[in-house]
Amino acid sequence: MLAVEDARNRVLQEIVSSPESETVPTADAAGRYLTEAPLARVGSPAFDNSAMDGYALRATDLGDDGGELPVAFTVAAGDDPQALPPGACARIMTGAAIPSGADSVVMQEKVTALEGRARFGERPAVGSNIRGSGEDVHPNARLAEPGERISPITVSALATAGVGTVRVARRPCVAVLSTGSELSDPGEPPAPGMIYDSNRFALLAMLRQIGVEAVDGGRVPDDLDLLRASMDSAAQYDAVITSGGVSVGEFDHVKRILEEKGEIGFWKVAIKPGKPFAFGRLGGAYFFGLPGNPVSSLVTFQQFVRPALIHWMGGTPVSVRVSAMAGSEYQRPHTSRTEFLRARLQWDGGRLVASPLTRQGSGMIWGMSRAHAYIVVEAGDHGFQAGDPVVVEPISDWCSFGEPQSRGE
Ligand code: AMP
Ligand code: MG
Repeated sequence: MLAVEDARNRVLQEIVSSPESETVPTADAAGRYLTEAPLARVGSPAFDNSAMDGYALRATDLGDDGGELPVAFTVAAGDDPQALPPGACARIMTGAAIPSGADSVVMQEKVTALEGRARFGERPAVGSNIRGSGEDVHPNARLAEPGERISPITVSALATAGVGTVRVARRPCVAVLSTGSELSDPGEPPAPGMIYDSNRFALLAMLRQIGVEAVDGGRVPDDLDLLRASMDSAAQYDAVITSGGVSVGEFDHVKRILEEKGEIGFWKVAIKPGKPFAFGRLGGAYFFGLPGNPVSSLVTFQQFVRPALIHWMGGTPVSVRVSAMAGSEYQRPHTSRTEFLRARLQWDGGRLVASPLTRQGSGMIWGMSRAHAYIVVEAGDHGFQAGDPVVVEPISDWCSFGEPQSRGE
């Protein structure tokens, strides 16, 4: 059986990262992967401007203990001011361009406004309260690098530098199919022997979270011909994700169809939960066969599919791991697989404490929904005692650490 790391590397090696590029407005670019470095059209700030509401002046026009100057004019944000006459000051607002000739701004709280004049108590240092042109970024600077995922903050930096559009990787189109004759959709009346499909909705949502175009391929019963037809039509997309039907049960047809219509790269990984994970090709599409158990399907998505699709878009997938202290013990007899224990995190006495949930079954999706993070127990490890250091990987990028323990477990 392949180790988790080896399986992930196999997937990354197999997937060719040469996505086509497209141009999108900066306003819509958050979450997309850059294929070209955007260059600043203007510096930031684009021109010297005032950091305060106050008075712009030449420092040398004041003595050591200040003095009085006539107010020549007022500059508001957005104005293109005239030059400052010698021996005068200008009323100026935050963000307004510094008039040529002025070299400092005194905040208005330190100035006594008189009729047409202003009195200053001291001489400011040259440059005070001026945001200098280009002090954050220079014109033509590379604002970000190819392969980078554009964050909302990068959107702000791009907009500031006047960049209206960016070149980004085309989003892959990924179809999600649920297999299983026992599945119905939530909202339908409960029926004997039937369960509600949950994997499809979670997988579609996770795909959208990583900036992929997710296509709902629906649910397919465990019927060889129906499944063959559904997988055939899904093969038109860049990638196909199925859940269920990859084990060794009598109605687990996914593997068989993959053998017929495509090729199996590997099947089975030394991961818990999620051993029966399959990767391969289905026609021209990359194929990911996830196990049906809800926790297993989401863990394998996060460990294998997410990095694969980020790599496809030209990004560099990284798993964020931090060290924490175990809040309770966990021991296991079998150590052949890397285990992703669902855990809650708490910031306690200046330390991050990770406590494994009691609900660790691979069908216990509600339990998982209460978790913040995985505690990663490597193959070969028997577990840990309370107080031991453990390796923790966040389950989502919006996990909050300090939440009270009263909710969920
Ligand atoms: P399978 O891998 O098809 O043998 O399914 C393993 C377990 O996961 C079974 O208990 C299935 O009923 C359940 N399961 C399969 N697909 C789904 C799904 N889409 N949503 C929720 N549970 C599922
Ligand atoms: Mg099944």
